[in-house]
Amino acid sequence: MSKITPMMQQYYEVKEQYTDAFLFFRLGDFYELFFDDAELAARELEITLTRRGKGEDAAPMCGVPYHSSENYIARLIDKGYKVAICEQVEDPQTAKGVVKREVIRVVTPGTIMEERAVTADANHYIAALSGTDHERLAYVRTDLTTGETDGGIIGSEVTDIEKALLVDGLREVIFPRGELPPAWEKWIKTAALTISYEENEAMPDAYAHLYDGSDPSVRAAFGRVLHYLARTQKRSLAHLQPLATIESQEFLQMDLHTRRNLELTTSLRERKKKGSLYELLDETKTAMGSRLLHRFLERPLANKMEVERRQTLVHQLVDDMLTRAQLQDQLRNVYDLERLAGRVAYGNVNARELVQLRTSLQQVPDIVELLPALGEEGVRLTEDVDICEALRTRLEAALVDDPPNAIREGGMIRRGFHEELDEYREASENGKTWLSNLEHQEREATGIKNLKVGYNRVFGYYIEVSRAQLPHVPDHFERKQTLTNAERFITPELKEMENRILEAEEKMEQLEFDLFKGLREETSAYIPHLQQLARMIAYVDCLQSFAQVSEERRFTRPRFSEQRTMSLINSRHPVVETTLDRGAYVANDVHMDERREQLLITGPNMAGKSTYMRQIAILSVMAQIGCFVPADEATLPLFDKIFTRIGAADDLVSGQSTFMVEMLETKHALKEATPDSLILLDEIGRGTSTYDGMALARSIVEYIHEHIGAKTLFSTHYHELTILEEQLETLWNVHVRAEEEAGEVIFLHKVEEGRADKSYGIHVAQLAHLPDTVIERARTLLAEYENGQVPRENANDIHEQVPLFTYEEEKKPARSVDEKETSEVTKVSEQIRDMDILNMTP
Ligand code: ADP
Repeated sequence: MSKITPMMQQYYEVKEQYTDAFLFFRLGDFYELFFDDAELAARELEITLTRRGKGEDAAPMCGVPYHSSENYIARLIDKGYKVAICEQVEDPQTAKGVVKREVIRVVTPGTIMEERAVTADANHYIAALSGTDHERLAYVRTDLTTGETDGGIIGSEVTDIEKALLVDGLREVIFPRGELPPAWEKWIKTAALTISYEENEAMPDAYAHLYDGSDPSVRAAFGRVLHYLARTQKRSLAHLQPLATIESQEFLQMDLHTRRNLELTTSLRERKKKGSLYELLDETKTAMGSRLLHRFLERPLANKMEVERRQTLVHQLVDDMLTRAQLQDQLRNVYDLERLAGRVAYGNVNARELVQLRTSLQQVPDIVELLPALGEEGVRLTEDVDICEALRTRLEAALVDDPPNAIREGGMIRRGFHEELDEYREASENGKTWLSNLEHQEREATGIKNLKVGYNRVFGYYIEVSRAQLPHVPDHFERKQTLTNAERFITPELKEMENRILEAEEKMEQLEFDLFKGLREETSAYIPHLQQLARMIAYVDCLQSFAQVSEERRFTRPRFSEQRTMSLINSRHPVVETTLDRGAYVANDVHMDERREQLLITGPNMAGKSTYMRQIAILSVMAQIGCFVPADEATLPLFDKIFTRIGAADDLVSGQSTFMVEMLETKHALKEATPDSLILLDEIGRGTSTYDGMALARSIVEYIHEHIGAKTLFSTHYHELTILEEQLETLWNVHVRAEEEAGEVIFLHKVEEGRADKSYGIHVAQLAHLPDTVIERARTLLAEYENGQVPRENANDIHEQVPLFTYEEEKKPARSVDEKETSEVTKVSEQIRDMDILNMTP
């Protein structure tokens, strides 16, 4: 140990407390990393690994320049790491011994505030779970950039956690130390979350006012988040907002699979906004509005009054184009008030951002003035809103139009705002005038025409004379610097003036910085008002976006039926519609009511069964967020929950067999659905052998019919199931029509009453050029089946069982995947099949 330098000693002491983070150790103009940190960071950031010290004790080291560190930190955070920033906390010039260093903040994926690391139109959350009870868990999630927090009680199954925490935007979860239940661990891994630990779950006194509920587990989870934030951020967080308790029955409940399957906020294939309903509906003008829209889509309402409140405003905004256009103009100039308020509280706002805040506040009076044009609901929005006029006036008086990014170099404060500052400014300006006069005077006095007064950082102000003119230089000029073609001089009076100018400028910069800090303080007193304004503006923005899209795309205002009736005339799938040529989408009707609770949909592959089912769910979601819907007329029930079992695209990654996932999801639906729910089952039972699958499908439908009574859409290619219509009172057959023309199948995408007459499978086989003998044989067999030559009773004699460890062939061509990709998939699955698993390492 004796060889260790005092600085390394200090490093060890700090590092010991931050073992789960990269320690960025400030040395002069660099942050240095040592040992394992250095080796890993060098790899992750592709920077050079060096060594500090000599011989065996040399420590692996790498570093990033202080001024560009933000970028490197953001990259590490993006990969899920944490970074502890250790600064020099005393002036190295005056320090005795080793400069004192302290970690001033730990940046983590869930707490990063830096602008370049956060997406403008997405929230990002840090969450904590709490509760010892095995049935019941409390969760709390916070977006540190905006200060929003919500939480509530959920069940302890993984699906419950997923449902509540909405993986979109969640980056980090805080647990108590100790063993995690294996199911959670798996969930965390699949969701690529960062795990952190915090033991303390007592609500800190300073934040006690943020939770006024009475649930001890919610309080504990919140306490855990707050302690973790306090420990990592090491500053007061004045922008944290009171916890909003989420009562799940207030919202339309959907599990993660359903949200993903319906492509509400991200598309299935790319997990991006592009191609999702979110993208389609997003005509918002502000980042806050866009984030709110995202939250609307994650949690549609199940409360009719609240939905109708939104609808009323959307309706007004659709009709009143002028007000909508004016609002849009105002909203365009509103910056991200929520995040600005967050940065004010956090203490890292600069003058430019305060100017953005000012510009935003300048729009507010006009917005508030426009809202009453939208009727009673519009007036309601303006109540309790503080337009923060005093703050706006203050910022208008204080800040120049276009201040610099830096806050220590002056140039931020307007003339006339502060007398003393103006005096320094004048002194500095007078000094500069004096200098330029000096140039003139000295030229006259010496007769040197090209004599110049200049400035550089090392020598300050000087008089420059070219080599040829040197003989004319007077005696009182003092030589200071020699250049190739010129000499530089100073004079006592020049130096005196220089001192005065520099002194004034130094004072000016310091004073500007102090004034700016004062403004920042003043602004932080307004944080709750700014947040409230932000909420109102986000809401208005979101609703004008609904109105805009509804008008452009000819959406209609849905009515909600008390009798659980669904009646859609000429409805369309809004997203699929945009992918087709104009007018190519075939609109369809839907009729369901108390006598028609379940629809069994048949029709050939690619006919549009799945699209039809999704369309119904998507229209319901749109209706329950307050938007209009793509149909000529729409009446809908207010659903409490939506369940889907559609498609298989994202089951591949979860490591469970497709069929198992299918059954788990079905179980989930059967367990939780109510008569007010919507269930979509696409080709259930397809993943196992025919009779097996058909039997399961049938008993599932019967169960829903007998025990649940939920609105259910059920697509199948088992034509045998269509006889259920005769046995189950509220189940009806519909089919998607296709026609045959010159031996080709033509998809009409039109949904009609009754069952499909043919499955067209053989036509598709023919199109795929299967050998003629195969086609012929299939035709013969089909005719036999249809004539009842293979009696249905025999089905029970065939004891087919799904064998373990065989590969289930996809019988249906992958949807919306072109042929080339399909053959890619086949190739890959063949390669996987050929692998020698027993002789491979994990
Ligand atoms: P299925 O579930 O019956 O196999 P899909 O619902 O996947 O069929 O639809 C197949 C394709 O048909 C879709 O990708 C879409 O391009 C097209 N399609 C579906 N419904 C319609 C419609 N109503 N109008 C026009 N095209 C449609």
